[in-house]
Amino acid sequence: MIRVAIDGPAGVGKSSASKALAKYYGFAYLDTGAMYRACAWWCLKQGVDLDVDEPDERVVTETVGEFFTGDHFDISVDPDHPSVSADGEDISEAIRSSEVSTHVSKVSGIIPVRNVLIAAQRAYIAREESKDSFSGGLGIVAEGRDITTVVAPDAEVRVLLTAREEVRQARRTGQSVGAAGVGAEDVAARDRIDAKTTSFLTAADGVTTIDNSDMTFEQTLDTLVGL
Ligand code: C5P
Repeated sequence: MIRVAIDGPAGVGKSSASKALAKYYGFAYLDTGAMYRACAWWCLKQGVDLDVDEPDERVVTETVGEFFTGDHFDISVDPDHPSVSADGEDISEAIRSSEVSTHVSKVSGIIPVRNVLIAAQRAYIAREESKDSFSGGLGIVAEGRDITTVVAPDAEVRVLLTAREEVRQARRTGQSVGAAGVGAEDVAARDRIDAKTTSFLTAADGVTTIDNSDMTFEQTLDTLVGL
């Protein structure tokens, strides 16, 4: 079983690179950012007020807890068909909206919420591990902000994917306009808030940094394959 952990800031291209890497090796692919986004989407849908500087931690934690324990949440780890759903409704596009993007850090900054998600993410990784004992040669690529440090610090391959801020901002703008149809967002602002709870701006011991500011997508993928 090969576990690949990839962390990095917003707009660096983690999702595209991780998905392509998983497809290349026939591994599973876990987008942990999509899980936090789904939680923010669910909280908004349940009417939890996230439009305040500090949302009610107890209410958010209970709402997210129910999302998972009540079996409302589901995620596909198939890199050919990655999707997230709530009560059977595919919310893969909805979680990319600017509304979710601007609120997600308020949800992910709550420690008890993180604990629920970290446990769920470890369970997905363990599930792939248990499959591996039957078929052999499998693996998983998990990407986010705290995979190399908290979720899977013992992963066989650990990478911090990074790029200069203006490059990430441009990529995100292009991505948003072309893909989900939402306006540009300030990636640096989200990073500043996220950096209070997760340490994805510098590589932890044993983590390989890849700065892909001046790389094409193929070069980024080749570098990951090389590792
Ligand atoms: O990766 P993506 O930009 O979709 O992540 C959305 C948000 O989810 C991040 O801005 C961050 O607040 C949160 N996140 C996190 N820990 C992770 C992955 C994402 O806190 N491992």
